[in-house]
Amino acid sequence: MTTTAIATYCCPTCGRTYPADRPLWRCACGSHLNLAPGRGLARNQIVAGEASLWRYAAALSLRSPPRVSLGEGWTPLALRDWQGVPVHFKLESQMPTGSFKDRGTAVMINHLLEVGVGAIHEDSSGNAGASIATYAAASGIPCRIYVPAAAPRGKLVQIAVSGADVRAIPGTRQAVTAAALAAAEESFYASHNWQPHFIEGTKTLAFELWEQLGFRPPDNILVPTGYGSNILGLERGFDDLERNGEITARPRLFAVQAANCAAFAAAWAAGGDRFVPFATAPTVADGIATPKPVRVAEVLRGLRRSKGGIVAVAEEEIALGRLGLFVEPTAATAGAALTRLLRDGTIGLGQTTVVVLTGSGLKAAERVGELLGIGAAP
Ligand SMILES: [Zn+2]
Repeated sequence: MTTTAIATYCCPTCGRTYPADRPLWRCACGSHLNLAPGRGLARNQIVAGEASLWRYAAALSLRSPPRVSLGEGWTPLALRDWQGVPVHFKLESQMPTGSFKDRGTAVMINHLLEVGVGAIHEDSSGNAGASIATYAAASGIPCRIYVPAAAPRGKLVQIAVSGADVRAIPGTRQAVTAAALAAAEESFYASHNWQPHFIEGTKTLAFELWEQLGFRPPDNILVPTGYGSNILGLERGFDDLERNGEITARPRLFAVQAANCAAFAAAWAAGGDRFVPFATAPTVADGIATPKPVRVAEVLRGLRRSKGGIVAVAEEEIALGRLGLFVEPTAATAGAALTRLLRDGTIGLGQTTVVVLTGSGLKAAERVGELLGIGAAP
């Protein structure tokens, strides 16, 4: 990997720019920041012998080779039959910490190490917290994670076992974020929802799908969506490929939400690109129960630009498929959405469709057991 120029942060709200040579999580105006487009990716830049996302290091906005890697990325793409239709399942559940978050975390943490970050903290419904706590431990930096008190026990254990300081916050997901924001003076807020280097990492999902499908983009990609970092990463990754002339067509992106907590679906239905208030109810898909996403306009723009859409699935639709793929309920929402898109003809039989399975079933084994009627031992 060659040393690259310092990347640039751009504020989408006020237009300020900053060199990405320091730990920074938001603009002086309070907005989140984005990374300026990078050089993109050409297929002759792929390091074919590297079985991780670092095979695409040439396209990442980092200045030096990674200091920390747990072998994240290059996950299997399994072709299975879904109700008579061949569908590719992207097994992000097979990442080092069991969820897709490791893509974003690995790139974000390596950026933060490059710019000399000290102690960090983060708020998470579970998977991002487990991912960041694990990579912080691997990097030797202190880490504190704010989590919902009601998060699945397996996720809390995974965070705690890394040695991170776990702060369980009662109340809503938003209360957890508020606690983390209040701590921004104590340590660096390494939020996967604010840090654009997290999206820089998730863009490698686009590269992998393109490469694993024989250097062709699929027609459709379904993604369980809470904050939208996979939607934004896919858009950024396909931008990188298009800029280098590697693709001429773009996949339709479908964000899948739990109807009980569907911020993007509410904004989409309202026809605008802004957050609109909406009613929430508990959902088994805890990983995407996001009442207040950070990048609402950008995610909606990405979905519209791709000519895709949003599918909000009801609790009773979130069934656990018996395909030999053990995923958490959050990831199972994508199967429910696929069923609906096939039934209404939005997705055609001859198209290439990818379903992103974002997290392992082992993350939520207790909750999956409850769904199956398997009670706890007395
Ligand atoms: Zn700004």
